[in-house]
Amino acid sequence: MNPFAYTSPKTTTDASALAGPNGDFALPVLKSGGMDLLDRMKEGLEQPDLIIDLTRIEDPALDTLDAGRIGGRVTLAMVAESEALRKSAPILGAASGSAATPQVRNVATVAGNLLQETRCWYWRMSQFDCLRKNGDDCPAREGDHRFHVIFQNGPCLMVHPSNLAPALFVLDGEVEVVGGDRTRIPIRDLYPDPAVDWRSASVLSPTEIITGVRFKSAPNSAFIALKQKQSFDWPMVSGYAVLELDGDVITSARTCAGAVAPRPHPLPQVDDALAGVSIDDEVRIRAACARSVDGADPLPGTAYKTTLLPVAIRRAVAAATNPAGVDRGGDA
Ligand SMILES: Cc1cc2nc3c(=O)[nH]c(=O)nc-3n(C[C@H](O)[C@H](O)[C@H](O)COP(=O)(O)OP(=O)(O)OC[C@H]3O[C@@H](n4cnc5c(N)ncnc54)[C@H](O)[C@@H]3O)c2cc1C
Ligand code: SF4
Repeated sequence: MNPFAYTSPKTTTDASALAGPNGDFALPVLKSGGMDLLDRMKEGLEQPDLIIDLTRIEDPALDTLDAGRIGGRVTLAMVAESEALRKSAPILGAASGSAATPQVRNVATVAGNLLQETRCWYWRMSQFDCLRKNGDDCPAREGDHRFHVIFQNGPCLMVHPSNLAPALFVLDGEVEVVGGDRTRIPIRDLYPDPAVDWRSASVLSPTEIITGVRFKSAPNSAFIALKQKQSFDWPMVSGYAVLELDGDVITSARTCAGAVAPRPHPLPQVDDALAGVSIDDEVRIRAACARSVDGADPLPGTAYKTTLLPVAIRRAVAAATNPAGVDRGGDA
């Protein structure tokens, strides 16, 4: 690791003022829990000259959580354990509790989770150049791409790594930001169009800091991850569902797929097919969820995901019919 300076400002305004390239420092970087940032530094992918530690900022709004808002510094563990969220939006606790290990969740923050970098193993190894690192091509295309996209097939083939981003997407979430000329960004606009910008982790400028996320209440909401090992892995695919019910009938649905595209992948065709369907109508629900792979263009190594995705979406829909948001099983 290269030598770097360290500072722990007391306000977000001070942190933001330090975060752009300034007189003394060309490469300042923000740190929350540091789980991703320090990994990147240890892997030699980044050589910041100033670390701006956000953990000492004296602003309780960064750490508070209620039924419709979570502070940006709240940990994944706190989200997973929140009773208020279990009632208002169980999908958030499920997505947070499924990420990583208890040790990581105790440190990793909501803001850091949304802005973590890709897990593409070629990107993670300093020995490889690639399109996302100023190289000329993507070694994953001809290489081992088993955890890569089935939608949005290039130029970069990475899948978005955050469990929380698609959950906030189906909740119509937005991030609160300070340090720029906007104060809110809808989650659907937080990540760049991968056909246009395949290098940036978000549309935020270096001085913009996420202070919290806001979202609508969705008691009938659920998240399902299908992983290679159902413990601390990132998902191979994940399914997200928010339902509105009138008795046993789905009056409207909002579904999204994770780990299949460079950003959260909405599934409006599934939403349309689910509207008006009884939650007991297995045949129509199965047919609706099968449409989750409409338009898929898998790589040779990711074709298996087209089998998994309908299962993840169907299980998320089934779990969302249960207000506790608990996965009631399924034939994964
Ligand atoms: C073994 C393991 C398994 C994992 N599995 C999963 C998984 O299944 N699903 C999943 O979603 N994640 C998973 N993760 C990733 C983990 O959730 C993230 O690394 C973590 O959430 C990052 O949060 P942090 O607070 O530590 O961020 P940091 O490392 O501090 O920051 C991450 C990035 O965000 C920027 N940043 C941080 N805070 C702010 C802010 N407030 N405003 C603007 N920019 C900011 C930083 O500059 C940095 O670029 C796993 C990690 C490990 C180690
Ligand atoms: S998928 Fe993207 S991040 Fe991975 S090697 Fe290709 S260009 Fe780089």
